[in-house]
Amino acid sequence: MPLPTTDLYRPAYGQYAIGHFNVANMEQILGLFRGATEVQAPFIVALSRAAWGYAGLEMLHHMILAAHERYPEAVFAVHHDHGSEETCYQAIDSGCFTSVMIDASHHPFEENVAVTRRVVARAHERGISVEAELGVLAGQEDHLRVEEREALLTDPDQAAEFVERTGCDSLAVAVGTSHGAYKFAARSGLRLDRLAAIQSRLPGFPLVLHGASAVYPQEVARINAAGGALEPGAQGLDEKHLPEAIRLGVTKVNVGTDGRLLWTRLHREFFRDHPEKFDFTEPGRRYMGEYARLVAHKCRVLGSAGRAGTLSNTEH
Ligand SMILES: [Zn+2]
Repeated sequence: MPLPTTDLYRPAYGQYAIGHFNVANMEQILGLFRGATEVQAPFIVALSRAAWGYAGLEMLHHMILAAHERYPEAVFAVHHDHGSEETCYQAIDSGCFTSVMIDASHHPFEENVAVTRRVVARAHERGISVEAELGVLAGQEDHLRVEEREALLTDPDQAAEFVERTGCDSLAVAVGTSHGAYKFAARSGLRLDRLAAIQSRLPGFPLVLHGASAVYPQEVARINAAGGALEPGAQGLDEKHLPEAIRLGVTKVNVGTDGRLLWTRLHREFFRDHPEKFDFTEPGRRYMGEYARLVAHKCRVLGSAGRAGTLSNTEH
């Protein structure tokens, strides 16, 4: 059985971060369990609404249980990523999750508070923890003026009020990252100053970094060399900033895009180099191996590698 998500956060705060990996198929689930257990890292299996829509929740749930049978030493939690109020309730009732994220940050502040409070009440009844979001994880911000970009970031005073009023267990903050392959389009970068200000208002409270893929330039170059057409401006979060972000309270780091870019590079190169082949298990097997290596690398960068032993999974 997975562990409560907050059990993973408690020993991590200020020391290391738990990797949250968005998965949607068998190759990613097996690669994730393999990579994380190889480096003895606790980890979070993240299922978004898109993943449910693709594979179906019952399929993902049973693949996770099967992966745990293969890797009984795995120390992990299962998280619903970017839920609506409705899908959070479905996730809570399904018995498949140890935490949910209610994504209501696009609403005005008071409505975000109200929606999040409702989800927290339902989740806590079942022993499930809740990640909420405050601030806007914008996409490409080239067209915005400096003060407009600034207004999208999480306000530290509001963050403290939000956590107090909602009772959420962790908070996704907008500190300059964005989703997808084109982060930092406006060259604003990760705002460690803003993170420090939030931490000073919420000491000891787990913060979550979304849009934290590295978007490795060599991966983008290889995709394009193999027939892809990603914009050369594709840019992610420089991993060298992560240790400082972790000291400033970032306890969970979300990785989705890097796994997709890896999938794209591997399959484009495979079929370019082997145009005569059509057996999907060969590139699939390679992807599992390379995804496991990516996961292991992320866990080392986040400092979670080697920490699984301190968290016992008593159920298994
Ligand atoms: Zn996200």
